[in-house]
Amino acid sequence: MTTTIPPKIDFIDLKTQQKRIRENVDRRIAKVLDHGSYILGPEVKELEETLARYVGMKHCVSCGNGTDALLMALMAYDVKPGEAIFTPPFTFVATAEVVSLTGATPVFVDIDERTYNIDPAGLEKAIETFLEKKTGLRVRGIIPVDLFGQPADYDAIVTIAKRYGLFVLEDAAQGFGGMYKGGKTCSFGDIAATSFFPAKPLGCYGDGGAIFTNNDTVDEKLRSIRVHGQGVDKYDNVRIGINGRLDTMQAAVLLAKMEIFDEELKLREKVAKRYSEMLKGSVVTPYVNPDCISCWAQYSVLTDNRDAVMSKLKANNVPTAIYYPKPLHLQDAYKDLGYKRGDFPVSERIAAKVFSIPMHPYLDEATQDYIVGAIKASI
Ligand SMILES: *Cc1c(COP(=O)(O)O)cnc(C)c1O
Repeated sequence: MTTTIPPKIDFIDLKTQQKRIRENVDRRIAKVLDHGSYILGPEVKELEETLARYVGMKHCVSCGNGTDALLMALMAYDVKPGEAIFTPPFTFVATAEVVSLTGATPVFVDIDERTYNIDPAGLEKAIETFLEKKTGLRVRGIIPVDLFGQPADYDAIVTIAKRYGLFVLEDAAQGFGGMYKGGKTCSFGDIAATSFFPAKPLGCYGDGGAIFTNNDTVDEKLRSIRVHGQGVDKYDNVRIGINGRLDTMQAAVLLAKMEIFDEELKLREKVAKRYSEMLKGSVVTPYVNPDCISCWAQYSVLTDNRDAVMSKLKANNVPTAIYYPKPLHLQDAYKDLGYKRGDFPVSERIAAKVFSIPMHPYLDEATQDYIVGAIKASI
């Protein structure tokens, strides 16, 4: 490259965002320090109401992180040993990990070649094949993932789920803010979980998560599970639960971030569109289903010579990351499930070619031009 190398490009820029909201965050945190309700304080309730309204669901139960959100959702559905849950292997490990934590068995289903989300046709086949094998496990639920910010194909998934009597838990940890057929993520299937890890589209300044449901009984159960399975009070325990609460401080941060969230989504969309126009023909750019609006948790591309491209980009100060280098069925942690290389060819092929480039609402055009130039020079 002939252009000068910029000193530092952020993969995700949280500093520019913080400058915008700093006063608001300071004011809200000072308020928490003043009232002193650090656990389940008024900000937690306000946040839950704000988020439920935002996604169009009756209930939002905030919690400690996205993994707990998924786990608590499974606990609320009484998922237990002897049950099978269908989920894609091309995702963050937490999606399947929570299934194992309940004692149930994750059953992997390959992804769609273009969206990288669970393939509905493959899902139906996987359920049929699984039932024919007569494993003795009861088929119970499906966890689709809104990977990189794009919602899965919920109409197709829910139709299949109904046919087999399964529940659908939406893993929207990367999807908050995305849309499918006019509805917001976290409103699909029976129950949804999201994460407020700092790097997610809506992130706090630590760990955080939330669960969404329209079902009053499930909502009550989740609130009990969140505080050690409490009944009338926390020293009355009616079920096994966890300590799954969101800190009041983090709720205060999220309330400040929600004030600019929609504007940030528009900025992300602009950055993504520009990337796709400029990178077309150089790498495989993200495919967005016409029914979907992505919240662009990641901007991920495919190339055959990924490792060489990534090291050239690194030499030019362009940060990149691989989400995800190894599909879950090939992880040591899942050896006992008995999968082998070749079982999920699409996931394996994408995992070998995919990498993500800087994506955040504050990526200016000059920096983006530099990143695109560096990619084109590295191919
Ligand atoms: C981040 C993530 C999670 C877990 O969220 P945490 O808040 O980190 O626990 C779960 N599933 C997916 C797909 C994720 O990207």
